[in-house]
Amino acid sequence: MTKSVRVRFAPSPTGPLHIGGLRTALFNYLFAKQKGGKFVLRIEDTDKNRYVQGSEQHIIDSLSWCGLEPDESPFNPGEFGPYRQSERKDLYKKAISVLIEKGGAYYAFDTKEELELLRTDEEKKGRVFSYNSKNRHKLTNSISLTKKEVDKKIAGGEEFVVRFKTPENKTIVCEDILRGVVSVDSETLDDKILYKSDGMPTYHFANVVDDHHMKISHVIRGEEWLPSLPLHSMIYDSFGWLDKPAFVHLPLILKPVGKGKLSKRDGDKFGFPIYATSWTGIVKTKGYKEFGFLPQAVVNFLSLLGWNPGTEKEIFSLSELIQAFSFSGLNKSGARFDPEKNRWFNHSHIQNTKNSLVSDSIKKAFGSEHSKYKEEELDKIAELIKPRLEDLNDVFNTSRFFFIKPKEYPEKQVKRLKKTGFNEVIESLVSIIEKSGDLNNLKPLVEDLVKEKEWGFGKVLGLFRLSIVGELSGPDLFEVISIIGKQEVLERLHTLKDHLNKVNL
Ligand code: GLU
Repeated sequence: MTKSVRVRFAPSPTGPLHIGGLRTALFNYLFAKQKGGKFVLRIEDTDKNRYVQGSEQHIIDSLSWCGLEPDESPFNPGEFGPYRQSERKDLYKKAISVLIEKGGAYYAFDTKEELELLRTDEEKKGRVFSYNSKNRHKLTNSISLTKKEVDKKIAGGEEFVVRFKTPENKTIVCEDILRGVVSVDSETLDDKILYKSDGMPTYHFANVVDDHHMKISHVIRGEEWLPSLPLHSMIYDSFGWLDKPAFVHLPLILKPVGKGKLSKRDGDKFGFPIYATSWTGIVKTKGYKEFGFLPQAVVNFLSLLGWNPGTEKEIFSLSELIQAFSFSGLNKSGARFDPEKNRWFNHSHIQNTKNSLVSDSIKKAFGSEHSKYKEEELDKIAELIKPRLEDLNDVFNTSRFFFIKPKEYPEKQVKRLKKTGFNEVIESLVSIIEKSGDLNNLKPLVEDLVKEKEWGFGKVLGLFRLSIVGELSGPDLFEVISIIGKQEVLERLHTLKDHLNKVNL
């Protein structure tokens, strides 16, 4: 019988969720949804010293903004809860006793100072100290001590840890779907701590115990966990658990310059967001959301960091990604983060969204000013500016002239116009506008005027645009004019005329 697909995203709440973690969540989500499986969120909060208030909320908010809702989580528990490791302590306590009983782990009483001394001694000899099969019998633990001595120490409240008993002289063979077989000589591994005297498991132990108890079928996580794979695989074996999940270690996300892992600091350095949504630490750091990105664009660019569909297609919706995703499209080598390309993704997704999303941003940007236009007009403005938007915050600059009359004009244009017969051009434009009914057929009237007077159409249009927009760029002028209305157009032409007559350059 094939196992039903259950994957987990298992972040530690040690700070805000950055986009690397979010990409891991995304690939887990895509795989689960494609296979009709479950996407589980498990909070790995066993390390109290690294716990950062607010990070769990940030994880939830980021996933939610991107539309990656977990099927099971601390807020939406399923039958495998609790979903926070700090609430699963009893399970780990039982599990570690079982493992000790099975001979897969042992108590160790060596103090930090003792171990430090051994470390420096070995260093002096040019060697590296390792707590392993070669010397564990010489150290203070339940392998070197009698059962009575061990019981006495524990009963006396002596501090201890529980270490994994790495099998001796064995080649540990494990498999990663992406990287194939990984084998290590067990003699090169040390006996990792699985359980601490404060009653808390370490990451390795809690992680494996939970994956087993939560019936996780596939572990999809970052490449930085690949070195832990042999240990995790050995823990399964020591318990005698036969339900080892399949493992996939995702490639690193590299800095925009190509070399080195993308870090939180790169965001500040290169001026791009590193989180999906804002994070308030000592200072507030904006996320993609606050930078005016659409969540679907963020999902899209993250999906292509380390995965490719095998076609030229670049723009994907979440549901298209669910269909297209496959482990065979994953790359082994790191994926360069490209903030410029990400803006292109956002631009492209903005083109595919409803105008109302853009007009909502316009309303926010201009407050009560927006009420001078009807809903259909705002929709039209949204449609006109959309091709010019890289992010939703651009709505202010790209639609400003619909709401705020231009008062200043670029010096270069003013100088150029002052050398022309601008008064006659403006007066003629004013006169045809005054005579015309609505402004919907203004264009042919302006064309006729230009022909009759033998002026250049481009030049007249440039002047006209300058009066309406305040600069020479912007959407189709006649479309703009039909929205802002006759009165306003006349006023703006007069304002430019007055300015040109007054200004001395
Ligand atoms: N808690 C680990 C992390 O923060 C999870 C690693 C894993 O997925 O096994 O990345």
